[in-house]
Amino acid sequence: MILKGKTALVSGGSRGIGFAIAKLYHDEGANVYIMSRNAEKLGEAADKIGSDDRIHAVPCDVSSKTAVDQAFERIKADGARIDILVNDAGVNLRGPLETMPLETWEKVLGINLTGTFLLTQKVFPDMKEAGGGKIVNIASLMSEVARPTIAPYVASKGGVKMFTRAIAVEWAKYNIQANAIIPGYIETEMNTPLIADKEFNAKIVGRTPAARWGKPEEVAQAALFLASKGADFITGQALAVDGGILANLM
Ligand code: NDP
Repeated sequence: MILKGKTALVSGGSRGIGFAIAKLYHDEGANVYIMSRNAEKLGEAADKIGSDDRIHAVPCDVSSKTAVDQAFERIKADGARIDILVNDAGVNLRGPLETMPLETWEKVLGINLTGTFLLTQKVFPDMKEAGGGKIVNIASLMSEVARPTIAPYVASKGGVKMFTRAIAVEWAKYNIQANAIIPGYIETEMNTPLIADKEFNAKIVGRTPAARWGKPEEVAQAALFLASKGADFITGQALAVDGGILANLM
């Protein structure tokens, strides 16, 4: 029980990578809050994670400051103090850069980057008071390299990686460690269209030295380590869980 006695908040916890992280944290003894927009799906996810009083669903759009403030009022009403924050909530909207509507740009940046900023600011008082804390931000291969038609996503994930470093250097004095995870191609709902596209699928499997897609549970293992005491001297890093794809030139 690596996280016994700790309280974690996982945004994007209703499915995919966030769900796998929330489940593993819960399995490892943590009191876990999960957050996403669709309240019904979030409730179903919480039921799947556990039937005890260590799992809580807090519906919230992380891109809205008002919604985030309200969500924290609810968490505070429970008397909870967040020790571990996982910023996982993310979206990807595609389109050619030359005609990209401003709304699309703002939506992706608002969820992926501003949402990360808003939750991070919110957990600070708890972590400072507790004498430390862990922040795990879910970045992307697109924090390192780019692909056409996803400019807002690439910009947001580059931002998430650098924001992680900004937290790390500014809050090290409070014993708060912030690290990012760079998942490779992971089998989740976000990638359903890509997995179904035979040509794209073959390209990904061919380019990944491990010759397969990753699983959300494999990303969760890295998130567990970064939230654990074993990672107390690790901060400002970005850990790729990608089957070697970033290390591969061809
Ligand atoms: P999914 O689409 O499966 O899940 C995304 C989660 O984020 C859902 O719980 C969704 O719930 C929630 N979410 C989306 N928008 C908001 C919002 N505005 N406020 C609160 N919650 C929100 O994605 P993945 O599990 O595939 O990805 C998770 C993270 O990992 C993302 O940040 C993604 O960019 C990153 N990533 C994923 C990779 C992959 O291959 N899957 C690769 C690299 C990075 P709801 O819609 O109900 O709000």
